[in-house]
Amino acid sequence: MPLPDFLPALLRPELAELHAYTPVAGHFPVRLDANESPPLLSAEARAALARAAAPEDWGRYPDARALDLREAIAAHCGADPDEIVAGVGSDEVISIVLTALSRPRQGADAPSVVTVSPTFVMYKLSARARGMRVVEVPLDAGWDLDVAGLARAVDFARPNVVFIASPNNPTGALMSEDRLEAVVAAARDALVIVDEAYIDFAPRDQLALLRKHPNVAVLRTLSKIGLASLRIGWLIGARELVAELDKVRQPYNLPTPSQRAAAFALRELGGELRRAAAAVTSERERLAAGLAELGLTVAPSHANFLWIGTRRPAGEVFEALAARGVLVRSFHAAGGRLAHRLRITVGLPEENDRLLAEIAACA
Ligand code: PMP
Repeated sequence: MPLPDFLPALLRPELAELHAYTPVAGHFPVRLDANESPPLLSAEARAALARAAAPEDWGRYPDARALDLREAIAAHCGADPDEIVAGVGSDEVISIVLTALSRPRQGADAPSVVTVSPTFVMYKLSARARGMRVVEVPLDAGWDLDVAGLARAVDFARPNVVFIASPNNPTGALMSEDRLEAVVAAARDALVIVDEAYIDFAPRDQLALLRKHPNVAVLRTLSKIGLASLRIGWLIGARELVAELDKVRQPYNLPTPSQRAAAFALRELGGELRRAAAAVTSERERLAAGLAELGLTVAPSHANFLWIGTRRPAGEVFEALAARGVLVRSFHAAGGRLAHRLRITVGLPEENDRLLAEIAACA
């Protein structure tokens, strides 16, 4: 059906260039496309989570301030509950940040965002949906920050927000500490969001940067360590920033079962979650070695996925794997240096074995 006559004139013009985020549908016996973690929690932990999640009263709204959850997050991260904004995944926190910080700078025609490329697509989607300009600075040949390029972009765009994921998605690389620090200094009158969605698989975090620079906030999530179904992510930042962000957060954004299960997991399942992350990290190294043995290029990863260079065009390898029941992510549509790149989430050992067997035949 065509759009009703009145609608085009009402839609934001930016929507014409956007596509809804739609994961590939269909049945794939091995799904290694979404950077979730494989089901590694014990039966006891899963049962305890289900018990903890049940609300006392199904008829009441959730705690609008998510206080118990924010206390659990704060204790987990060494922060204060007033320094935490929790959202429906870090996706929602990104949109909260951009809604609050989208005032055009003096003299600029539109508010703007600076980020790198390739990186997590929601920074751009969320910014464009709010009419913000987006400047993307390509990562260097080692998938690290191009400090000079980012400094020029910051000078030129005078962004409201700079997004840097470390470890980055889809490249898996941690950004060099000195380069990140240089970008934070160059962007001293913008908010720099350091997105640590994959921090549970990395050897170091950037919380020290947050304590040192008032323009830095850090994003975290439970989605990558086996709890993606809860949709819980959060920002850690200065309490004054948190107070402003809270004004645009939906009051009852986090369902009670998610608040309760997440608080329980953070308080009681730390050991299990760390063991699961360690199992993924060691499988990542085994999978990386197996892929390298097949002659594929494997970038060093500090996340729960691998960034692979293929000999054949990545789109063809993606299709061939999908036809064999193994779903991964291809970035060939972006062209250029991504035309031969795949992102493969680390799965269970048997899923990784199946991937290795199938990719040997088609990459
Ligand atoms: N940041 C990065 C870098 C990601 O890769 C992802 C998930 N793909 C997210 C944030 C969003 O995570 P969440 O499930 O918490 O919304």
